[in-house]
Amino acid sequence: MSANPARRIPSVKRQGEKENSPGGPPIGRRRWLGLPSAILILTLAFAADAIAQPQLESAYARLMFSNPEDIATLNKSIDFGESGGWFASSDPAAVEKRLRGKIDALYDKAQRILDMRKPMRPKVLLRVLHDENERATTFFKIFKRNGQARAWYVYEFNTVYINAQDVNEGIIAHEFAHAIIDHYLSVRPPRASAEILATYVDKYLFDDVRTRNDFQ
Ligand SMILES: [Zn+2]
Repeated sequence: MSANPARRIPSVKRQGEKENSPGGPPIGRRRWLGLPSAILILTLAFAADAIAQPQLESAYARLMFSNPEDIATLNKSIDFGESGGWFASSDPAAVEKRLRGKIDALYDKAQRILDMRKPMRPKVLLRVLHDENERATTFFKIFKRNGQARAWYVYEFNTVYINAQDVNEGIIAHEFAHAIIDHYLSVRPPRASAEILATYVDKYLFDDVRTRNDFQ
């Protein structure tokens, strides 16, 4: 699924832009004091976010988790690329490395199936939601309505949203395909066309990639 959010990210209201109360300092002075504190608050908010939410970065994507345990859960859910075999180490660093490898293998395969190879900057963000509850509340926050989508991509945020408890390699490849399609073409294709292409990617994920000469 790919959709537009119901609204844009709210812009930050600077403290200095509030109404000036009678008897308070002049507007100019408040603006001067307000802006640095607003920046400080934002910086602290982002710093707290970064601490609370573990992140990983692979060659093609950034991954952000709500719960550190979901790194192992997601790794187990993706049957693609190097699994490490039956005796694979459960050491967290080894698990993270395998997960990064799988994510990149999926992204690379989606690019090859689509024959759309171009570096994407910034990298797509894979937002790993913890469970059905977080999936539902996140969907509602973005679209201002309830929705059943198991995963989705939002072009405006360049972000794929997945539920750690309900995901597989096909779902991730499908959403990566949306990110790739929307950034490869200079004009984003119509929704229906993009959906056909993305569906093709997850359907043929495990097949050999057809080369130009195979198409008539
Ligand atoms: Zn889709």
